[in-house]
Amino acid sequence: MRKLHLLLLFISILFIACQPKVDPNKNPNKELSQSEHLVMSADWFQKSAEMRASFYQAYNLASYKLKEHVNNYKGEKPTAVVLDIDETVLDNSPFEKHLIDKGELYNSAGWKEWTDKGAAKKLPGALEFTNYAKELGVEVIYISNRKVNELEKTIENLKAAGFPNAAKEFVILREMDKSGNKTERRNNVNEKYETLLYVGDNLTDYSQIFSDRGEDLGFKIVDEYKSDFGEKFILLPNPMYGEWEGAIYGNDYSLAPEKKRALRKQILEGY
Ligand SMILES: [Mg+2]
Repeated sequence: MRKLHLLLLFISILFIACQPKVDPNKNPNKELSQSEHLVMSADWFQKSAEMRASFYQAYNLASYKLKEHVNNYKGEKPTAVVLDIDETVLDNSPFEKHLIDKGELYNSAGWKEWTDKGAAKKLPGALEFTNYAKELGVEVIYISNRKVNELEKTIENLKAAGFPNAAKEFVILREMDKSGNKTERRNNVNEKYETLLYVGDNLTDYSQIFSDRGEDLGFKIVDEYKSDFGEKFILLPNPMYGEWEGAIYGNDYSLAPEKKRALRKQILEGY
């Protein structure tokens, strides 16, 4: 019996010794798919407790500020809070996982396939906040760059996730022939309502002044408006995509995947 044990131990040691040595610093996949870089950001968004805490933190602050603004408001117009939809109230990270599996980047046909399912889940804190806004008598309005041909399914999705005001009157999407600039839609809302707070994952969910990021990627303009953040605009973290990424590519998403990968590295500051 003892001999058998020794023999098994010897075989085990031999097996381990014969395994090929993997250098963790060397990438065994020479050909990374063009969506490989999304893995880490989608992991963070979907599977980190820090993401959950960040969303709670942002929506807790949103509730606190909204109450304060309601108390200070002396105007006549009815009040509103304007929220973006994607990565603000609804979680599309399963679509990112789909892109990773397929080795693809964002494309509008694939996106439409996903939104047609109406299956996006609510993001942490979003439902509590929107319900609280209603309780305070503040209208909840969604302005999103989903296209108008996604309206029906978007409303269904918001309804299924339990959100208030999941109705045509309050869900304002992007016309098929228009750009993603939300200014006109915000202005239309502000004719009827006094918007007390904006919530979104992209700076232009607050104002178009942040769209022209230039060489410094928008840092200067953000510094100029720093007192607005957490006061008039609640920004949610989105490491998966956004105008910040476009700025790295000089707003040219048509660049080849290798070029984009190179730019993502080149832009980093080292020591
Ligand atoms: Mg968004």
